[in-house]
Amino acid sequence: MASIALMKSFVGLRHSTAVDNHSTAVVTKHTVSAHKYCIKASKSGPKLAGRNLKVAVVGGGPAGGSAAETLAKGGVETILFERKLDNCKPCGGAIPLCMVREFEIPLDIIDRRVTKMKIISPSNVVVDMGRILQPHEYVGMVRREVLDSYLRDRAAAAGAAVVNGLFLKMDLPEEKNAPYVLHYTDYSSKSSGSGEKKTMEVDAVIGADGANSRVAKCIDAGDYECTLAFQERIKIPDSKMKYYENLAEMYVGDDVSPDFYGWVFPKSDHVAVGTGTVTHKADIKKFQTATRNRAQNKIQGGKIIRVEAHPIPEHPRRRRVLERVALVGDAAGYVTKCSGEGIYFAAKSGRMCAEAIVEGSENGKRMVDESDLRVYLEKWDKTYWVTYKVLEVLHKVFYRSNPAREAFVEMCGDEYVQKMTFESYLYKRVVAGNPLDDLKLAVKTIASLVRANAFGKEMEELSIIN
Ligand SMILES: Cc1cc2nc3c(=O)[nH]c(=O)nc-3n(C[C@H](O)[C@H](O)[C@H](O)COP(=O)(O)OP(=O)(O)OC[C@H]3O[C@@H](n4cnc5c(N)ncnc54)[C@H](O)[C@@H]3O)c2cc1C
Repeated sequence: MASIALMKSFVGLRHSTAVDNHSTAVVTKHTVSAHKYCIKASKSGPKLAGRNLKVAVVGGGPAGGSAAETLAKGGVETILFERKLDNCKPCGGAIPLCMVREFEIPLDIIDRRVTKMKIISPSNVVVDMGRILQPHEYVGMVRREVLDSYLRDRAAAAGAAVVNGLFLKMDLPEEKNAPYVLHYTDYSSKSSGSGEKKTMEVDAVIGADGANSRVAKCIDAGDYECTLAFQERIKIPDSKMKYYENLAEMYVGDDVSPDFYGWVFPKSDHVAVGTGTVTHKADIKKFQTATRNRAQNKIQGGKIIRVEAHPIPEHPRRRRVLERVALVGDAAGYVTKCSGEGIYFAAKSGRMCAEAIVEGSENGKRMVDESDLRVYLEKWDKTYWVTYKVLEVLHKVFYRSNPAREAFVEMCGDEYVQKMTFESYLYKRVVAGNPLDDLKLAVKTIASLVRANAFGKEMEELSIIN
Protein backbone atom coordinates (compact mmCIF):
# COMPACT_ATOMS: atom_id res chain seq x y z
CA MET A 1 0.00 0.00 0.00
CA ALA A 2 1.25 3.41 -0.71
CA SER A 3 0.02 6.86 -0.14
CA ILE A 4 -2.00 8.45 -2.90
CA ALA A 5 -2.49 11.40 -0.57
CA LEU A 6 1.24 11.93 -0.54
CA MET A 7 1.35 11.96 -4.28
CA LYS A 8 -1.57 14.31 -4.60
CA SER A 9 0.23 16.81 -2.47
CA PHE A 10 3.44 16.34 -4.39
CA VAL A 11 2.24 16.60 -7.97
CA GLY A 12 -1.08 18.29 -7.41
CA LEU A 13 -3.15 15.38 -8.70
CA ARG A 14 -6.65 14.85 -7.41
CA HIS A 15 -8.87 12.08 -8.57
CA SER A 16 -11.90 10.15 -7.69
CA THR A 17 -12.53 6.56 -8.65
CA ALA A 18 -16.02 5.24 -8.86
CA VAL A 19 -16.88 2.43 -6.51
CA ASP A 20 -19.14 -0.21 -7.88
CA ASN A 21 -21.37 -1.07 -4.99
CA HIS A 22 -22.49 -4.20 -6.74
CA SER A 23 -23.31 -5.67 -3.43
CA THR A 24 -22.46 -4.34 -0.05
CA ALA A 25 -23.70 -7.35 1.84
CA VAL A 26 -21.05 -9.31 3.70
CA VAL A 27 -21.82 -13.00 3.99
CA THR A 28 -20.31 -15.17 6.64
CA LYS A 29 -20.92 -18.60 5.10
CA HIS A 30 -20.28 -20.06 1.66
CA THR A 31 -23.47 -18.89 0.03
CA VAL A 32 -24.20 -18.00 -3.55
CA SER A 33 -25.95 -14.76 -4.32
CA ALA A 34 -29.06 -15.41 -6.37
CA HIS A 35 -29.33 -12.12 -8.19
CA LYS A 36 -29.18 -12.19 -11.99
CA TYR A 37 -27.76 -9.60 -14.34
CA CYS A 38 -30.48 -8.29 -16.62
CA ILE A 39 -29.16 -5.44 -18.68
CA LYS A 40 -31.25 -3.89 -21.42
CA ALA A 41 -29.60 -2.15 -24.33
CA SER A 42 -30.14 -1.94 -28.06
CA LYS A 43 -27.58 -4.19 -29.75
CA SER A 44 -26.47 -4.75 -33.32
CA GLY A 45 -25.09 -8.33 -33.36
CA PRO A 46 -27.29 -10.97 -35.03
CA LYS A 47 -29.70 -12.90 -32.84
CA LEU A 48 -28.53 -16.42 -32.04
CA ALA A 49 -30.96 -19.13 -33.04
CA GLY A 50 -31.67 -22.03 -30.71
CA ARG A 51 -28.69 -21.44 -28.45
CA ASN A 52 -27.03 -18.85 -26.25
CA LEU A 53 -23.72 -17.08 -26.71
CA LYS A 54 -20.86 -19.41 -25.72
CA VAL A 55 -17.83 -17.85 -24.03
CA ALA A 56 -14.60 -19.50 -22.86
CA VAL A 57 -12.83 -18.04 -19.85
CA VAL A 58 -9.21 -19.22 -19.79
CA GLY A 59 -7.72 -19.25 -16.28
CA GLY A 60 -9.45 -19.83 -12.97
CA GLY A 61 -7.80 -17.23 -10.72
CA PRO A 62 -9.73 -14.26 -9.29
CA ALA A 63 -10.13 -12.70 -12.75
CA GLY A 64 -11.42 -15.88 -14.38
CA GLY A 65 -13.63 -16.98 -11.48
CA SER A 66 -15.37 -13.60 -11.31
CA ALA A 67 -15.76 -13.34 -15.07
CA ALA A 68 -17.25 -16.84 -15.32
CA GLU A 69 -19.71 -16.24 -12.50
CA THR A 70 -20.96 -12.99 -14.03
CA LEU A 71 -21.30 -14.51 -17.51
CA ALA A 72 -23.18 -17.55 -16.24
CA LYS A 73 -25.54 -15.43 -14.16
CA GLY A 74 -26.10 -13.26 -17.21
CA GLY A 75 -27.39 -16.09 -19.38
CA VAL A 76 -24.18 -16.81 -21.32
CA GLU A 77 -23.05 -20.41 -21.82
CA THR A 78 -19.76 -20.31 -19.94
CA ILE A 79 -16.77 -22.65 -19.98
CA LEU A 80 -14.04 -21.94 -17.42
CA PHE A 81 -10.68 -23.57 -18.17
CA GLU A 82 -8.24 -24.04 -15.28
CA ARG A 83 -5.11 -26.12 -15.74
CA LYS A 84 -4.64 -26.89 -12.04
CA LEU A 85 -7.67 -26.94 -9.79
CA ASP A 86 -5.57 -27.00 -6.61
CA ASN A 87 -3.30 -24.21 -7.89
CA CYS A 88 -1.64 -22.28 -5.10
CA LYS A 89 -0.73 -19.01 -6.81
CA PRO A 90 2.43 -17.44 -5.34
CA CYS A 91 0.92 -14.38 -3.71
CA GLY A 92 0.90 -12.32 -0.51
CA GLY A 93 -2.87 -12.72 -0.44
CA ALA A 94 -3.69 -9.23 0.87
CA ILE A 95 -7.13 -7.99 -0.20
CA PRO A 96 -8.87 -4.70 0.50
CA LEU A 97 -12.09 -4.44 2.49
CA CYS A 98 -14.10 -3.38 -0.57
CA MET A 99 -13.29 -6.72 -2.21
CA VAL A 100 -14.82 -8.59 0.71
CA ARG A 101 -17.96 -6.54 0.31
CA GLU A 102 -18.30 -6.21 -3.45
CA PHE A 103 -17.45 -9.84 -4.15
CA GLU A 104 -19.29 -11.22 -1.14
CA ILE A 105 -16.22 -13.02 0.15
CA PRO A 106 -17.21 -15.17 3.13
CA LEU A 107 -15.46 -14.11 6.29
CA ASP A 108 -14.48 -17.69 7.06
CA ILE A 109 -12.01 -17.79 4.16
CA ILE A 110 -10.15 -14.76 5.44
CA ASP A 111 -7.26 -16.15 7.49
CA ARG A 112 -6.16 -12.91 9.11
CA ARG A 113 -7.51 -9.44 9.57
CA VAL A 114 -4.57 -7.12 9.50
CA THR A 115 -5.07 -3.90 11.42
CA LYS A 116 -1.44 -2.98 11.87
CA MET A 117 0.66 -2.21 8.81
CA LYS A 118 4.23 -1.33 9.70
CA ILE A 119 6.43 0.35 7.13
CA ILE A 120 10.13 0.21 7.92
CA SER A 121 12.68 2.60 6.42
CA PRO A 122 16.23 1.80 5.24
CA SER A 123 17.54 2.98 8.62
CA ASN A 124 14.87 0.89 10.39
CA VAL A 125 12.58 3.77 11.38
CA VAL A 126 9.20 2.11 11.95
CA VAL A 127 5.84 3.72 11.25
CA ASP A 128 2.58 1.97 12.10
CA MET A 129 0.15 2.77 9.30
CA GLY A 130 -2.86 1.18 10.96
CA ARG A 131 -3.42 3.68 13.77
CA ILE A 132 -6.28 5.49 12.11
CA LEU A 133 -8.31 2.40 11.15
CA GLN A 134 -11.87 2.19 12.46
CA PRO A 135 -12.75 -0.89 14.56
CA HIS A 136 -14.49 -2.60 11.59
CA GLU A 137 -11.67 -1.88 9.12
CA TYR A 138 -8.87 -4.28 8.16
CA VAL A 139 -6.80 -5.68 5.31
CA GLY A 140 -7.86 -9.28 4.61
CA MET A 141 -5.26 -12.03 4.24
CA VAL A 142 -6.33 -15.03 2.22
CA ARG A 143 -4.73 -18.20 0.93
CA ARG A 144 -5.03 -18.12 -2.82
CA GLU A 145 -5.80 -21.80 -3.17
CA VAL A 146 -8.83 -21.17 -0.93
CA LEU A 147 -10.00 -17.91 -2.52
CA ASP A 148 -9.57 -19.10 -6.11
CA SER A 149 -11.35 -22.39 -5.63
CA TYR A 150 -14.17 -20.60 -3.76
CA LEU A 151 -14.68 -18.20 -6.68
CA ARG A 152 -14.55 -21.06 -9.20
CA ASP A 153 -17.09 -23.08 -7.20
CA ARG A 154 -19.35 -20.07 -7.13
CA ALA A 155 -19.06 -19.71 -10.91
CA ALA A 156 -19.94 -23.40 -11.25
CA ALA A 157 -22.93 -22.97 -8.94
CA ALA A 158 -24.10 -20.10 -11.16
CA GLY A 159 -24.00 -22.42 -14.17
CA ALA A 160 -20.45 -22.24 -15.59
CA ALA A 161 -18.86 -25.52 -16.73
CA VAL A 162 -15.43 -25.82 -15.12
CA VAL A 163 -12.97 -27.79 -17.24
CA ASN A 164 -9.72 -29.00 -15.72
CA GLY A 165 -7.74 -28.27 -18.85
CA LEU A 166 -4.61 -26.58 -20.15
CA PHE A 167 -5.36 -24.09 -22.91
CA LEU A 168 -2.76 -24.52 -25.66
CA LYS A 169 -3.73 -22.21 -28.52
CA MET A 170 -6.68 -21.06 -30.56
CA ASP A 171 -7.52 -20.66 -34.23
CA LEU A 172 -8.84 -17.20 -34.91
CA PRO A 173 -11.97 -17.02 -37.12
CA GLU A 174 -11.49 -15.93 -40.70
CA GLU A 175 -15.08 -14.81 -41.16
CA LYS A 176 -17.25 -12.47 -39.12
CA ASN A 177 -19.19 -14.33 -36.41
CA ALA A 178 -17.40 -17.64 -37.11
CA PRO A 179 -16.25 -19.51 -33.97
CA TYR A 180 -12.84 -19.47 -32.25
CA VAL A 181 -11.43 -22.99 -32.04
CA LEU A 182 -9.68 -23.61 -28.72
CA HIS A 183 -7.08 -26.37 -28.44
CA TYR A 184 -6.56 -27.73 -24.96
CA THR A 185 -5.41 -30.70 -22.95
CA ASP A 186 -8.28 -32.07 -20.90
CA TYR A 187 -7.25 -33.51 -17.52
CA SER A 188 -10.81 -34.27 -16.41
CA SER A 189 -10.59 -37.89 -17.45
CA LYS A 190 -8.81 -39.81 -14.74
CA SER A 191 -7.82 -42.60 -17.16
CA SER A 192 -4.82 -40.75 -18.61
CA GLY A 193 -2.43 -38.77 -16.42
CA SER A 194 -1.08 -36.84 -19.39
CA GLY A 195 -4.54 -35.67 -20.42
CA GLU A 196 -6.43 -35.82 -23.66
CA LYS A 197 -6.02 -33.34 -26.54
CA LYS A 198 -9.34 -31.74 -27.44
CA THR A 199 -10.83 -28.76 -29.29
CA MET A 200 -13.85 -26.61 -28.55
CA GLU A 201 -15.65 -23.94 -30.58
CA VAL A 202 -16.75 -20.76 -28.81
CA ASP A 203 -18.07 -17.32 -29.78
CA ALA A 204 -15.78 -15.24 -27.57
CA VAL A 205 -12.81 -15.68 -25.26
CA ILE A 206 -11.76 -13.99 -22.02
CA GLY A 207 -8.05 -14.41 -21.32
CA ALA A 208 -7.69 -14.58 -17.53
CA ASP A 209 -4.63 -16.80 -17.63
CA GLY A 210 -2.25 -14.60 -15.67
CA ALA A 211 1.11 -13.01 -16.37
CA ASN A 212 2.29 -15.66 -18.84
CA SER A 213 -0.99 -15.54 -20.76
CA ARG A 214 -1.20 -17.76 -23.82
CA VAL A 215 -4.40 -16.02 -24.87
CA ALA A 216 -2.44 -12.75 -24.99
CA LYS A 217 0.11 -14.40 -27.28
CA CYS A 218 -2.65 -15.68 -29.57
CA ILE A 219 -3.87 -12.12 -30.18
CA ASP A 220 -0.37 -10.66 -30.35
CA ALA A 221 -1.13 -8.44 -27.36
CA GLY A 222 2.48 -7.42 -26.79
CA ASP A 223 4.73 -7.96 -23.80
CA TYR A 224 5.01 -5.97 -20.64
CA GLU A 225 7.81 -5.37 -18.19
CA CYS A 226 7.56 -7.55 -15.11
CA THR A 227 8.64 -7.44 -11.52
CA LEU A 228 10.10 -10.77 -10.48
CA ALA A 229 8.51 -11.53 -7.11
CA PHE A 230 10.08 -14.08 -4.79
CA GLN A 231 8.43 -15.40 -1.66
CA GLU A 232 9.19 -17.91 1.09
CA ARG A 233 6.49 -19.36 3.32
CA ILE A 234 8.07 -19.66 6.76
CA LYS A 235 6.56 -21.57 9.65
CA ILE A 236 7.63 -19.72 12.76
CA PRO A 237 7.16 -20.74 16.40
CA ASP A 238 3.68 -20.03 17.81
CA SER A 239 5.08 -17.47 20.24
CA LYS A 240 6.51 -15.50 17.29
CA MET A 241 3.37 -16.01 15.18
CA LYS A 242 1.46 -14.18 17.89
CA TYR A 243 3.40 -11.04 16.97
CA TYR A 244 2.16 -11.26 13.37
CA GLU A 245 -1.39 -12.16 14.32
CA ASN A 246 -2.85 -8.96 12.87
CA LEU A 247 0.31 -7.30 11.61
CA ALA A 248 1.91 -6.98 8.17
CA GLU A 249 5.31 -5.45 7.58
CA MET A 250 6.76 -3.65 4.56
CA TYR A 251 10.49 -3.05 4.35
CA VAL A 252 11.95 -0.47 1.98
CA GLY A 253 15.62 0.07 1.15
CA ASP A 254 18.28 -0.67 -1.45
CA ASP A 255 19.16 -3.83 0.47
CA VAL A 256 15.69 -5.42 0.12
CA SER A 257 14.93 -4.11 -3.38
CA PRO A 258 16.12 -1.31 -5.65
CA ASP A 259 12.59 -0.71 -6.97
CA PHE A 260 10.01 -2.60 -4.91
CA TYR A 261 9.60 -3.52 -1.25
CA GLY A 262 10.13 -6.50 0.99
CA TRP A 263 7.24 -7.87 3.03
CA VAL A 264 6.25 -10.12 5.89
CA PHE A 265 2.55 -10.99 5.62
CA PRO A 266 0.76 -13.27 8.10
CA LYS A 267 -0.97 -16.35 6.69
CA SER A 268 -3.12 -18.94 8.45
CA ASP A 269 -0.30 -20.68 10.35
CA HIS A 270 2.87 -19.19 8.88
CA VAL A 271 4.26 -15.97 7.45
CA ALA A 272 5.01 -15.13 3.81
CA VAL A 273 8.31 -13.30 3.46
CA GLY A 274 9.11 -11.88 0.04
CA THR A 275 10.48 -9.18 -2.18
CA GLY A 276 10.54 -8.22 -5.86
CA THR A 277 12.50 -6.31 -8.46
CA VAL A 278 12.18 -5.23 -12.06
CA THR A 279 15.69 -4.05 -12.72
CA HIS A 280 17.94 -6.50 -10.83
CA LYS A 281 16.29 -9.89 -11.26
CA ALA A 282 19.60 -11.80 -11.03
CA ASP A 283 20.01 -10.45 -7.47
CA ILE A 284 16.59 -11.53 -6.21
CA LYS A 285 17.99 -14.08 -3.74
CA LYS A 286 20.31 -11.45 -2.28
CA PHE A 287 17.31 -9.14 -1.72
CA GLN A 288 15.35 -11.99 -0.19
CA THR A 289 18.17 -12.71 2.26
CA ALA A 290 18.24 -9.02 3.18
CA THR A 291 14.47 -9.02 3.79
CA ARG A 292 14.80 -12.08 6.01
CA ASN A 293 17.70 -10.43 7.85
CA ARG A 294 15.72 -7.28 8.50
CA ALA A 295 12.92 -9.31 10.09
CA GLN A 296 15.38 -11.73 11.66
CA ASN A 297 14.59 -11.34 15.35
CA LYS A 298 10.87 -11.82 14.66
CA ILE A 299 11.11 -14.89 12.40
CA GLN A 300 14.12 -16.60 13.97
CA GLY A 301 13.70 -20.36 14.42
CA GLY A 302 11.36 -20.48 11.44
CA LYS A 303 11.34 -23.30 8.91
CA ILE A 304 10.92 -22.56 5.20
CA ILE A 305 8.00 -24.67 4.01
CA ARG A 306 7.65 -23.36 0.47
CA VAL A 307 9.67 -21.24 -1.96
CA GLU A 308 7.90 -19.58 -4.90
CA ALA A 309 8.49 -16.99 -7.58
CA HIS A 310 6.26 -15.43 -10.19
CA PRO A 311 6.19 -12.39 -12.48
CA ILE A 312 4.05 -9.37 -11.62
CA PRO A 313 3.09 -7.18 -14.60
CA GLU A 314 4.34 -3.61 -14.43
CA HIS A 315 1.89 -1.99 -16.84
CA PRO A 316 -1.00 -2.92 -19.15
CA ARG A 317 -0.39 -4.71 -22.43
CA ARG A 318 -0.40 -2.76 -25.67
CA ARG A 319 -3.54 -4.62 -26.75
CA ARG A 320 -6.25 -5.81 -24.35
CA VAL A 321 -9.12 -6.44 -26.77
CA LEU A 322 -9.11 -7.84 -30.30
CA GLU A 323 -12.42 -8.61 -31.97
CA ARG A 324 -14.18 -11.09 -29.62
CA VAL A 325 -11.18 -11.71 -27.35
CA ALA A 326 -10.48 -9.68 -24.20
CA LEU A 327 -7.75 -9.86 -21.58
CA VAL A 328 -8.41 -9.27 -17.87
CA GLY A 329 -6.42 -9.33 -14.61
CA ASP A 330 -2.70 -10.03 -14.84
CA ALA A 331 -3.12 -11.17 -18.45
CA ALA A 332 -4.07 -7.58 -19.25
CA GLY A 333 -1.45 -6.14 -16.87
CA TYR A 334 -3.62 -4.65 -14.12
CA VAL A 335 -1.28 -4.66 -11.11
CA THR A 336 -0.63 -1.29 -9.47
CA LYS A 337 2.89 0.02 -9.19
CA CYS A 338 4.20 0.74 -5.70
CA SER A 339 1.89 -1.65 -3.90
CA GLY A 340 1.93 -4.60 -6.33
CA GLU A 341 -1.78 -5.03 -5.72
CA GLY A 342 -3.59 -7.16 -8.29
CA ILE A 343 -6.20 -9.48 -6.73
CA TYR A 344 -8.99 -6.92 -6.47
CA PHE A 345 -8.22 -5.49 -9.90
CA ALA A 346 -8.22 -8.98 -11.41
CA ALA A 347 -11.63 -9.83 -9.96
CA LYS A 348 -13.00 -6.42 -10.85
CA SER A 349 -11.76 -6.47 -14.46
CA GLY A 350 -13.09 -10.01 -14.91
CA ARG A 351 -16.48 -8.91 -13.71
CA MET A 352 -16.47 -5.69 -15.74
CA CYS A 353 -15.53 -7.51 -18.94
CA ALA A 354 -18.19 -10.17 -18.39
CA GLU A 355 -20.81 -7.49 -17.71
CA ALA A 356 -19.98 -5.85 -21.03
CA ILE A 357 -20.46 -9.21 -22.81
CA VAL A 358 -23.73 -9.88 -20.99
CA GLU A 359 -24.93 -6.42 -21.89
CA GLY A 360 -23.72 -6.57 -25.51
CA SER A 361 -25.29 -9.98 -26.07
CA GLU A 362 -28.55 -9.06 -24.32
CA ASN A 363 -28.14 -11.85 -21.80
CA GLY A 364 -26.59 -14.30 -24.26
CA LYS A 365 -29.20 -13.92 -26.98
CA ARG A 366 -27.04 -12.08 -29.56
CA MET A 367 -23.57 -12.38 -31.04
CA VAL A 368 -21.10 -9.81 -29.68
CA ASP A 369 -18.44 -7.86 -31.54
CA GLU A 370 -15.35 -5.84 -30.65
CA SER A 371 -17.37 -2.71 -29.85
CA ASP A 372 -19.19 -4.62 -27.09
CA LEU A 373 -15.91 -5.71 -25.53
CA ARG A 374 -14.50 -2.21 -25.83
CA VAL A 375 -17.24 -1.00 -23.48
CA TYR A 376 -15.30 -2.85 -20.75
CA LEU A 377 -12.01 -1.19 -21.72
CA GLU A 378 -13.51 2.28 -21.75
CA LYS A 379 -15.14 1.79 -18.38
CA TRP A 380 -11.96 0.33 -16.92
CA ASP A 381 -9.70 3.10 -18.13
CA LYS A 382 -12.15 5.79 -17.05
CA THR A 383 -12.40 4.32 -13.57
CA TYR A 384 -8.77 3.39 -12.87
CA TRP A 385 -6.40 5.15 -15.25
CA VAL A 386 -5.65 7.94 -12.77
CA THR A 387 -5.11 5.50 -9.91
CA TYR A 388 -2.48 3.65 -11.94
CA LYS A 389 -0.81 6.87 -13.04
CA VAL A 390 -0.68 8.32 -9.52
CA LEU A 391 0.90 5.15 -8.14
CA GLU A 392 3.37 5.10 -11.02
CA VAL A 393 4.50 8.65 -10.25
CA LEU A 394 4.65 7.90 -6.53
CA HIS A 395 6.78 4.88 -7.29
CA LYS A 396 9.20 6.88 -9.41
CA VAL A 397 9.57 9.57 -6.79
CA PHE A 398 9.82 7.62 -3.57
CA TYR A 399 11.18 4.16 -4.44
CA ARG A 400 14.40 5.03 -6.19
CA SER A 401 16.86 5.96 -3.44
CA ASN A 402 17.29 5.43 0.27
CA PRO A 403 16.97 9.16 1.13
CA ALA A 404 13.65 9.28 -0.76
CA ARG A 405 12.47 6.14 1.04
CA GLU A 406 13.36 7.69 4.40
CA ALA A 407 11.23 10.71 3.42
CA PHE A 408 8.45 8.38 2.32
CA VAL A 409 8.38 6.53 5.63
CA GLU A 410 8.50 9.79 7.57
CA MET A 411 5.49 11.05 5.61
CA CYS A 412 3.61 7.81 6.29
CA GLY A 413 3.64 8.78 9.95
CA ASP A 414 1.30 11.66 9.15
CA GLU A 415 -2.27 10.96 10.23
CA TYR A 416 -3.77 12.71 7.22
CA VAL A 417 -1.59 10.67 4.84
CA GLN A 418 -2.69 7.48 6.57
CA LYS A 419 -6.34 8.43 6.35
CA MET A 420 -6.17 9.16 2.63
CA THR A 421 -4.02 6.07 1.96
CA PHE A 422 -6.44 3.70 3.66
CA GLU A 423 -9.44 5.37 1.99
CA SER A 424 -7.90 4.73 -1.40
CA TYR A 425 -6.63 1.22 -0.63
CA LEU A 426 -9.49 -0.22 1.39
CA TYR A 427 -12.35 1.29 -0.60
CA LYS A 428 -10.70 2.09 -3.95
CA ARG A 429 -11.88 5.64 -3.76
CA VAL A 430 -10.21 8.93 -3.06
CA VAL A 431 -12.35 11.34 -1.15
CA ALA A 432 -12.03 15.05 -1.59
CA GLY A 433 -9.31 16.12 0.82
CA ASN A 434 -9.31 19.13 3.07
CA PRO A 435 -7.52 21.93 1.11
CA LEU A 436 -5.73 23.20 4.22
CA ASP A 437 -4.56 19.70 5.14
CA ASP A 438 -3.49 19.14 1.52
CA LEU A 439 -1.42 22.30 1.65
CA LYS A 440 0.16 21.36 5.00
CA LEU A 441 0.94 17.95 3.57
CA ALA A 442 2.58 19.42 0.48
CA VAL A 443 4.83 21.55 2.68
CA LYS A 444 5.64 18.56 4.92
CA THR A 445 6.41 16.36 1.89
CA ILE A 446 8.86 18.87 0.52
CA ALA A 447 10.40 19.36 3.96
CA SER A 448 10.83 15.59 4.38
CA LEU A 449 12.48 15.26 0.99
CA VAL A 450 14.78 18.18 1.70
CA ARG A 451 15.67 16.76 5.13
CA ALA A 452 16.37 13.39 3.55
CA ASN A 453 18.49 15.09 0.91
CA ALA A 454 16.37 13.49 -1.80
CA PHE A 455 14.69 16.45 -3.38
CA GLY A 456 16.92 17.24 -6.36
CA LYS A 457 17.04 13.67 -7.64
CA GLU A 458 13.31 13.10 -7.19
CA MET A 459 12.37 16.33 -8.96
CA GLU A 460 14.55 15.22 -11.87
CA GLU A 461 12.64 11.92 -11.93
CA LEU A 462 9.38 13.79 -11.91
CA SER A 463 10.33 16.07 -14.78
CA ILE A 464 11.32 13.00 -16.82
CA ILE A 465 7.87 11.46 -16.23
CA ASN A 466 6.04 14.63 -17.09
C1 LIG B 1 4.75 -13.11 -4.88
C2 LIG B 1 3.51 -12.30 -5.19
C3 LIG B 1 2.83 -11.65 -4.16
C4 LIG B 1 1.66 -10.93 -4.45
N1 LIG B 1 0.97 -10.39 -3.41
C5 LIG B 1 -0.22 -9.77 -3.66
C6 LIG B 1 -1.02 -9.30 -2.58
O1 LIG B 1 -0.69 -9.46 -1.41
N2 LIG B 1 -2.17 -8.66 -2.87
C7 LIG B 1 -2.59 -8.47 -4.18
O2 LIG B 1 -3.65 -7.87 -4.38
N3 LIG B 1 -1.87 -8.94 -5.21
C8 LIG B 1 -0.70 -9.60 -4.99
N4 LIG B 1 0.01 -10.12 -6.04
C9 LIG B 1 -0.55 -9.99 -7.41
C10 LIG B 1 -1.67 -11.04 -7.62
O3 LIG B 1 -1.17 -12.32 -7.28
C11 LIG B 1 -2.16 -11.05 -9.07
O4 LIG B 1 -2.36 -9.73 -9.50
C12 LIG B 1 -3.46 -11.84 -9.21
O5 LIG B 1 -3.26 -13.18 -8.86
C13 LIG B 1 -4.01 -11.78 -10.64
O6 LIG B 1 -5.11 -12.64 -10.76
P1 LIG B 1 -5.47 -13.28 -12.18
O7 LIG B 1 -6.72 -14.06 -11.97
O8 LIG B 1 -5.43 -12.24 -13.22
O9 LIG B 1 -4.25 -14.25 -12.52
P2 LIG B 1 -3.68 -15.49 -11.71
O10 LIG B 1 -3.99 -15.38 -10.28
O11 LIG B 1 -2.28 -15.64 -12.12
O12 LIG B 1 -4.56 -16.71 -12.25
C14 LIG B 1 -4.35 -17.24 -13.53
C15 LIG B 1 -4.94 -18.64 -13.53
O13 LIG B 1 -4.89 -19.15 -14.85
C16 LIG B 1 -4.43 -20.47 -14.84
N5 LIG B 1 -3.79 -20.69 -16.13
C17 LIG B 1 -2.67 -20.09 -16.59
N6 LIG B 1 -2.40 -20.51 -17.84
C18 LIG B 1 -3.38 -21.38 -18.16
C19 LIG B 1 -3.66 -22.15 -19.34
N7 LIG B 1 -2.85 -22.11 -20.41
N8 LIG B 1 -4.75 -22.94 -19.34
C20 LIG B 1 -5.58 -23.01 -18.26
N9 LIG B 1 -5.35 -22.31 -17.13
C21 LIG B 1 -4.27 -21.50 -17.09
C22 LIG B 1 -3.46 -20.53 -13.66
O14 LIG B 1 -3.31 -21.85 -13.17
C23 LIG B 1 -4.15 -19.62 -12.66
O15 LIG B 1 -5.04 -20.31 -11.82
C24 LIG B 1 1.19 -10.83 -5.79
C25 LIG B 1 1.88 -11.46 -6.83
C26 LIG B 1 3.04 -12.21 -6.53
C27 LIG B 1 3.75 -12.90 -7.66
